[in-house]
Amino acid sequence: MKDVQFNPAEESSYECFNCGTVVRSTTQTRCPECGAGMRNRRTPIE
Ligand SMILES: [Zn+2]
Repeated sequence: MKDVQFNPAEESSYECFNCGTVVRSTTQTRCPECGAGMRNRRTPIE
């Protein structure tokens, strides 16, 4: 039985440090627009 660190079905919003593009992804990624790093935007789940 594997114990994963995160839920792969759980998406988070990530905002680009450089251009502000926001994407939803299951993992931290790079900006699709400019390739810069992105930070996790914690969005409240209702
Ligand atoms: Zn960007």
